[in-house]
Amino acid sequence: MGDRTIQFACTPEGEVVEAAQAVKGQSYLCPACRSPLIFRAGPQRVAHFAHKGEHACSGESVLHYVAKLLIQQAVEQWKRGVAPAPILARACRSCGTAHEQRVPDTVARALLEQRLPDGSIADVVLVDQADAPLAAVEVRVEHAVDEPKAARLPIPFIEVAGEAVLRDPARWEPLRDHLRPIVCARCREAYQRFQQQAAEVAARTGVPLPPTFYRYTVGECWKCHEEILLFAWPGQEAEEQQTPPAAGRPRTVQLRYSKTVRDRYWANTCPCCGMLQGNFFLFSEPDSPLFAFDAGEDTPEAFADDLLRLAARVATW
Ligand SMILES: [Zn+2]
Ligand SMILES: [Zn+2]
Ligand SMILES: [Zn+2]
Repeated sequence: MGDRTIQFACTPEGEVVEAAQAVKGQSYLCPACRSPLIFRAGPQRVAHFAHKGEHACSGESVLHYVAKLLIQQAVEQWKRGVAPAPILARACRSCGTAHEQRVPDTVARALLEQRLPDGSIADVVLVDQADAPLAAVEVRVEHAVDEPKAARLPIPFIEVAGEAVLRDPARWEPLRDHLRPIVCARCREAYQRFQQQAAEVAARTGVPLPPTFYRYTVGECWKCHEEILLFAWPGQEAEEQQTPPAAGRPRTVQLRYSKTVRDRYWANTCPCCGMLQGNFFLFSEPDSPLFAFDAGEDTPEAFADDLLRLAARVATW
C-alpha cells in the first residue's frame, strides 16, 4: 500500500494532475510534502505516483491535501472571474428541502491549513478582503480528519467528503453543516404567517411575545376556545421540571396545582378564562399544539430553530 495508492501529483506550477492523465518524462511533485514523485504506468500496472525515497505521505494524506488544494483553486478561479462561484449544496433547516447557495461575495480567498484563535488548524479557511476568517471547509477522508477537532472549530464550518471534492471541486455538499442555517422560501413564508398570527393573538390577549428563551405557539384554550399563546421552555417536560426563569416569563406561565397530576408544576394558563392548560393536553396527543415538542438548549440558535419548527406545524393545520 502507501505509495501505490497515490493518484494525484502537482506540476511545478501547482496544477493538480491525476495519474490517469499524467505523462512520462514530466516532473511531478507530491502535493502534500512537495518532494519529487516518479510517475509509474505500464500495461501491467495501474498508473500511479511514487515518492523517490523515504517519505511520510500516504495515498490518503495526498488525497486529503489535493482536495484542499482543489477547493482553494475553485475559489481562486471564481475570484479571477474565470469560473462561477462555488456552490454550497445545503438543506432548508426547517423542512430539509435541497437548496443551492453560492459562496457569498464577501469571501476574498481561501487559505489552507490556517491556525484559528483557539489553536486548532482548519483545512481551508475562507477569509474576507482583510484576511479575517469567515468560515472553514473541513475535508473528510477516511481516518484523516480529527472529528472532535472539527466539532470545536470557533468559526462556522462545513465538512465535505474528499472524494466528492475530487469529482467536483466547485460544488460543496456538506456532510456536516455548521454555517448559518438557511430557510427555504416556503418555510420563510410559513414563519412570517406564524409570527403575524402570534403577534395578533399577543395583542388581543395582552400577553406579549417573549424575545428569547420562551418558545411560543398559538392554540385554543380547551375551556373557553379562545385563541391563546402557549409557551414552552427547556426542561419543561423533564422528570424534575426546571423552574422557568422569572426574566421574561409570560404572566400566563404559572405555578399551579393540577388535579390530574396531583402536584404543582409550572404550567400554561388561559389569559381569557384563567384555566390551566395541562401539559398532557399540550404535549401528549397527536393533535396537541405542542405534541412531542422538546425545546432545545437556552441558546439563540436553538430558540430560532424551535420557532421554525413550531411555525412549520401551525402551517400544516
Ligand atoms: Zn509526499
Ligand atoms: Zn423549508
Ligand atoms: Zn380560556
